Amino acid sequence: MSDNKDVKAPSNFLRSIIENDLASGAFAPRGDSARIRTRFPPEPNGYLHFGHAKSICLNFGLAHDYEGACHLRFDDTNPTKEEQEYVDAIIDAVHWLGFDWGSNLFFASDYFDRMYAFAEYLIRNRKAYVDSLSADEMRAYRGTLTEAGRESPYRDRSVAENLDLFARMKAGEFADGSHVLRARVDMASPNLNMRDPAIYRIRHAHHHRTGDAWCVYPMYTFAHPIEDALENITHSVCTLEFEDQRPFYDWLLEQLCEGGLIPRPAPKQIEFSRLNLTYVVLSKRKLIQLVEEGHVDGWDDPRLPTLAGGRRRGYPPEGFRLFAERIGVSKADSLIEYSVLEECMREVLNDAAERRVAVLDPLKLVIDNYPAGEHEACFAPNHPLKPELGQRSMPFGRELWIEREDFMEEPVKGFRRLFPGNMVRLRYGYVVKCTGCDKDEAGNVVAVHCEYMPDSKSGTPGADNYKVKGNLHWVSVAEGVEAEVRMYDRLFAHPAPGSRREGDAPQLERDFLDDLNPDSVKLIRAWLEPSLGEVAPESRFQFERHGYFVADRIDSQPGKPVFNRTVTLKDSWARSGK
Ligand code: ATP
Ligand code: MG
Repeated sequence: MSDNKDVKAPSNFLRSIIENDLASGAFAPRGDSARIRTRFPPEPNGYLHFGHAKSICLNFGLAHDYEGACHLRFDDTNPTKEEQEYVDAIIDAVHWLGFDWGSNLFFASDYFDRMYAFAEYLIRNRKAYVDSLSADEMRAYRGTLTEAGRESPYRDRSVAENLDLFARMKAGEFADGSHVLRARVDMASPNLNMRDPAIYRIRHAHHHRTGDAWCVYPMYTFAHPIEDALENITHSVCTLEFEDQRPFYDWLLEQLCEGGLIPRPAPKQIEFSRLNLTYVVLSKRKLIQLVEEGHVDGWDDPRLPTLAGGRRRGYPPEGFRLFAERIGVSKADSLIEYSVLEECMREVLNDAAERRVAVLDPLKLVIDNYPAGEHEACFAPNHPLKPELGQRSMPFGRELWIEREDFMEEPVKGFRRLFPGNMVRLRYGYVVKCTGCDKDEAGNVVAVHCEYMPDSKSGTPGADNYKVKGNLHWVSVAEGVEAEVRMYDRLFAHPAPGSRREGDAPQLERDFLDDLNPDSVKLIRAWLEPSLGEVAPESRFQFERHGYFVADRIDSQPGKPVFNRTVTLKDSWARSGK
């Protein structure tokens, strides 16, 4: 990421806030020279999705642009849903996107001792109490948006009693749910988040890092501001659904500043609108359901909008970064067309991917006047706009594979490819004239015949004497490589999976699973030019006329390639109006 130092990203409200804070000296560097500190704080309860990419690019990007630091912090405060597998996958994905946190890797669970001490501090200052109402009672006492809450009968317990109960919660004397620690704020606040929110709960559960050391765990609303403060975060950037929690964030940090437990100034929470994308679901709950119920083949299924899936699909990390930059950040809810993401991938791939030839629906072409057993080399540029990438040789011979759709025995109007009597160029090779075809008993065309013009080879002086309209790609039958190609398409057939449609009966509830695209993958056997036989996993190419493809990072090996279609050359969804 250090290569784009002088490309200034477009301005946005977040940048304005940061620039003002830098100008006013609101956040002096602490500890080291970082001028600002941001963080990406995933909960390790699932794989990262495309929405997270927006947050990652934003937080790491701001730190980079303002000579700051960005922390990778695992918000691992809920032991029942979190796993080491997710920690590893998240680390992998953030690295893969191209970001580096240096030594700034943190785990909220490393702060459990301090969080506990901070909670005791609040109790001693009558800012927290142990409540023993049941969950249902607590809900009833909380009130509604239009009605103030009522104070719990336990709200005025003495400091001594609260400290004792909290210690016994920690010691494991009580069952889950029998008590909670609540902040003592304001039951009449118009903001429900300020009505004495729960800050610690009892959970007799094994934690993937702290094991069985704890049976009380801090709630997000308490833990997150403390994590930010302990790490000297300056700008705590999060999605809009946390806007209503900001008053509590500020309240809590103010208490701790007053007590001298954390330094001033406290971090600042700033919200932006989350990424919503058509044709996918971006919610961990739904993604887990797709994986666990087997609708896809694991977390890295190339159809899933997880970063692991996108990587396997062949989406380059630069494509995600371009996408994040292009969609920008704001506070307005927005729904981005999936084709915008695809266009970013195409743009990066068009520039970066070498060109190759593959025949996806093979039909044999026999050049009857070409000597059997003979071969010669034709040369094809690796990139039309980058001569420095050189060329490769493709063996030409008597029998070639062409695309089935490039031949019509009885051509429709405007068809310019092969049909009896017509001449076309075999790209990078010779001009041929079609002489006929062979059929099986059912009438299917099984081979096409032609004759070549020996003086028409591309790159030779005679080549220009032939004016033809069709230009076909081909692969040598003798030397081509047969391979599995997985033709991926969108996972959902509807832009808003599970949404109501016009004319739906009022009682009808749709399930996002009903909108799965039944044709989201098609496995085919294709013929590839020989140079594709030995490619390393994750190599990306443009297959001429077909789109961008990647050698599968799990199943492809040199000598036995397997390719995934990343994206077509054009947006076929827009054209077909599917
Ligand atoms: P989900 O809502 O999909 O279940 P989450 O918000 O619970 O995800 P976290 O692990 O808490 O997942 O997210 C880590 C960070 O990523 C948070 O700061 C969150 O705001 C941000 N984030 C999550 N989803 C999106 C999104 N769709 N667009 C932008 N940022 C997101
Ligand atoms: Mg969340």
